[in-house]
Amino acid sequence: MQVCSNNQQIIDLISQWKGKGETVAFVPTMGGLHDGHLSLVSKAAQVADRVVVSIFINPTQFSQNEDFDNYPETLSDDLTLLENYPVDVVFTPTAEQIYPKGLSSDVKAGSLAQGLCGGTRPGHFDGVAQVVYRLFEIVTPTVAIFGQKDYQQLLVIKQMVEAQVLSVKILSGAIIRENDGLAMSTRNQYLTKAQRQLAPELYKQLSVLKQQILSGGDVISSTKHTQEALEKHFKVEYLSVLDANTLKSITDNTAKITILCAVFLGSTRLIDNIIFNQG
Ligand code: AMP
Repeated sequence: MQVCSNNQQIIDLISQWKGKGETVAFVPTMGGLHDGHLSLVSKAAQVADRVVVSIFINPTQFSQNEDFDNYPETLSDDLTLLENYPVDVVFTPTAEQIYPKGLSSDVKAGSLAQGLCGGTRPGHFDGVAQVVYRLFEIVTPTVAIFGQKDYQQLLVIKQMVEAQVLSVKILSGAIIRENDGLAMSTRNQYLTKAQRQLAPELYKQLSVLKQQILSGGDVISSTKHTQEALEKHFKVEYLSVLDANTLKSITDNTAKITILCAVFLGSTRLIDNIIFNQG
């Protein structure tokens, strides 16, 4: 496994592989790696000849009052974990390598960035679209893999790839959870012991809501009931039941439903979602 932080080095390496007709799967991350990230790496190895993982804490997707300065930096642990996986190269660029011309960008997120996390984190998805576009420019992957954990992000990236007419194929990986149901997240390490014990309640309540919808319960009143149950433990930022393809209200034509939720537990923001077929 090679580690490289220089654009030209990785461009040369990848052009050698592509010259031999090899395909490249790419997993972008911000480090703080856990089994959720590693599941995407395993999937990458199944779908392409070469695997590239990037570790870059992207400044442009954090707002001023967010945790950019405190975001966990665990590079040596991350590299140790990745050594156990079939990774060809870990790309660890500096901000200067990614943004040589400064932080502003013409690449913006599209309509699917509106509302939900896009509503409460203004500019977040523009930053995501910008960094992913730039990473794709350098890595030129055949396939890139993103977690369903960040479901709106996954849709925003698919929309960006279509809008920019990029040839990369976007795949997704299922949400990896702790044994008690809490979705794995780099930010879970911010939780105190007491908060960590409460945190699985988020997924539990979303699962109850899913069951109520599947058994024909009224979506609006079931969602209101779940919101009240969540508010006993969390500060709820949003809880929405939407069409999983359009992120609009569900209709009789909706094939897949998504329940999307963001909450605060103390100062830690947790997101989670469930996707299922309309019954
Ligand atoms: P991050 O480092 O938080 O930017 O995440 C990098 C990638 O890992 C993104 O595509 C995330 O959606 C994905 N990811 C994060 N947590 C999980 C999880 N629990 N299960 C599956 N994928 C995840």
